[in-house]
Amino acid sequence: MQSPHAVILGAGHAAAQLVTSLRQQGWQGAITLVGEEPVLPYQRPPLSKAYLASQMSAEQMLIKNAAAYEKAGVNLRLGVRAERIDRAQQRVHLDSGEVLDYSALALTLGARVRELTVPGADLPGVFYLRTLADVDRIKAHASVGTGQRAVIVGGGYIGLETAAGLRQLGLSVTLLEAMPRLLERVTSAEVAAFYQRVHTEEGVDIRCGKSVQRILGASAVTAVQCADGDTFPADLVIVGIGVLPNVALAAAAGLDVGNGIRVNAFAQTSDPLIVAAGDCTEFFSEAHGRALRLESVPHAMAQASCAAATLCGKPVAYQAQPWFWSDQYDLKLQMVGLSQGHDQAVIRGDSHQGRSFSVFYLAGGRLLAVDCVNRPRDFLLGRKLVAAAAEMPADALADESSDLSRWLPTPTPTTP
Ligand SMILES: Cc1cc2nc3c(=O)[nH]c(=O)nc-3n(C[C@H](O)[C@H](O)[C@H](O)COP(=O)(O)OP(=O)(O)OC[C@H]3O[C@@H](n4cnc5c(N)ncnc54)[C@H](O)[C@@H]3O)c2cc1C
Repeated sequence: MQSPHAVILGAGHAAAQLVTSLRQQGWQGAITLVGEEPVLPYQRPPLSKAYLASQMSAEQMLIKNAAAYEKAGVNLRLGVRAERIDRAQQRVHLDSGEVLDYSALALTLGARVRELTVPGADLPGVFYLRTLADVDRIKAHASVGTGQRAVIVGGGYIGLETAAGLRQLGLSVTLLEAMPRLLERVTSAEVAAFYQRVHTEEGVDIRCGKSVQRILGASAVTAVQCADGDTFPADLVIVGIGVLPNVALAAAAGLDVGNGIRVNAFAQTSDPLIVAAGDCTEFFSEAHGRALRLESVPHAMAQASCAAATLCGKPVAYQAQPWFWSDQYDLKLQMVGLSQGHDQAVIRGDSHQGRSFSVFYLAGGRLLAVDCVNRPRDFLLGRKLVAAAAEMPADALADESSDLSRWLPTPTPTTP
């Protein structure tokens, strides 16, 4: 039998957490971390926020410094891509030619951007935003303070955060969204209307119902043309139309794959020697009664801890509550739970003129999810209330003088 060797493929948020958790849970064997990006695992959220707006350095974004990996005894293979998993031999083939034997394998491969396929989409000046290298390319192209015109394609969180970052750099920004409103896929009309107002106040030209048909330009992008014929001049275009989970490696190895690499509650794939965590996985959530694929840092970290526990022979079922945040301008949005299926959205605070409010999503009078803008206390209580699926009356929720904590479940008294 070979000596214990955990090989981790993909070096992002989930991988960094896996390394930490493996050692904390007592993994004694070797650990090798393989990542195709030529840098140590870094925090991805600031890419479209503080890093784009030049308020944070690449160094500050590292999840852990090189010394921490050395201390944890991790063999790093960065700038190297895993090309094939040979499950029968328990080996991974890398594009450097190296072959790694594993006793345990972790797939933390993340997701890649969905690409725009219209004519002209490959012109210089068209960018995506997923990696440090992507943002470095954008920043090298964007000239601060020259009134350059940026067109953003996609009105999800990445598109909106990018719009805020580029405004902070002094660019003129137009955002095109194909759906009738912003954030269609991820949150309610109430929250979308709020962000439409704020971005308009901040000088972003938001156009919904605009489907991009062609990118115009000879040697570089000059404009974006929509299906209705409207054309928007552009010196640069940033596309943020979603991501696709990286499943090809797992599928080619014969692992069970759906909208992500399928894992059970213990982060195990259909091969018990192989775990997976983060954006690349699909798992069944008992709490939501359906398969989910989540794209968030808290999920990547929690599922990675769960995967590490499994590899260390101390399995604990994954039960983390979905939560997420987005920073735009002076606004911190924090979301907990999944609002799909709500039959009532109750606003607490002023979303029409103010910049601080929460939306509580109820189904049959029970709390499913909460979105909070600049309301950390509502978020803290919201997490507990969502976990308890608290039954809450809409009128009282909307009344800011009512204390939310009164709907918290009363702790069951412990017998001495
Ligand atoms: C711009 C941006 C802003 C975001 N903002 C937020 C936010 O505010 N809050 C939040 O919760 N989440 C946010 N997210 C989402 C969050 O970053 C992801 O959910 C998180 O990074 C997932 O971690 P992961 O480890 O699963 O994948 P990743 O961080 O994507 O890491 C996967 C790594 O695997 C590598 N890889 C893939 N295939 C191979 C291969 N064959 N061989 C070797 N390496 C490979 C990839 O290159 C990548 O480096 C944001 C994402 C982006 C892009």
